Amino acid sequence: MIRRALLLLGASLATFTLDAVAVASPTAEAPYPLDAISRQLAPGIPFGCPPVDLVDYRGDTIRFRPPAKVISEFRERLEKLSAVVATVATEVYGRPPLSLVDLGTFACRRMEGHPRYLSEHGLGNAIDVAGFDFGPLPKGATLPAGLDRAFKNGFEVRVQTHWNAKNGHAAVHARFLKTLARRLIARNDIFRVLLGPGYPAHGSHFHFDMAPFRLVQIFDDGVVLEGEAAPPSPSP
Ligand SMILES: [Zn+2]
Repeated sequence: MIRRALLLLGASLATFTLDAVAVASPTAEAPYPLDAISRQLAPGIPFGCPPVDLVDYRGDTIRFRPPAKVISEFRERLEKLSAVVATVATEVYGRPPLSLVDLGTFACRRMEGHPRYLSEHGLGNAIDVAGFDFGPLPKGATLPAGLDRAFKNGFEVRVQTHWNAKNGHAAVHARFLKTLARRLIARNDIFRVLLGPGYPAHGSHFHFDMAPFRLVQIFDDGVVLEGEAAPPSPSP
């Protein structure tokens, strides 16, 4: 499947969108400024990354730790990511997390396992998300029905520790992480590539990027996760 996606690198987005139906949900993809940049590395030429303008993004309501170093177009995707995180976290825990813990954004390197291709991290066009840190339940906020009162205290949620949990508090964290992943998969305006547990070398984090193709490889008990639309927001 990854090989199929890689073959699409360098093809036009229109061509890709037609073929992508086989590997992902058939969402229409809007063009993106980096689509024209070839990710294929020419043989015999010293490795390097194309010049890109990077910005630091510390987050607004949810702090990014450490701050993300990305191109400005990807920063907009991180703002949308934050909004989805806040919505799902409020549904599950009654408040958004204080911070998103990332394992890296910009890094000039090759694609892991595919050395002839530039990683999206090399363009400031990707983020690796390890988890989220929650503070105590704020005054005025209420815990969702059925949630143990212990969730009024602060806690950490990590992909590595909680993704496969089936019991107790950890199972609530698994539900949060899986709901978050499903909501992000359902959106065609945030990320095109979503990798995570079950994909090689991604047991500890989600990898999200805006490569010129769509690929969703996040697994729940061996089954690839499908998108799930957000419930309609309550009328004011
Ligand atoms: Zn990554």
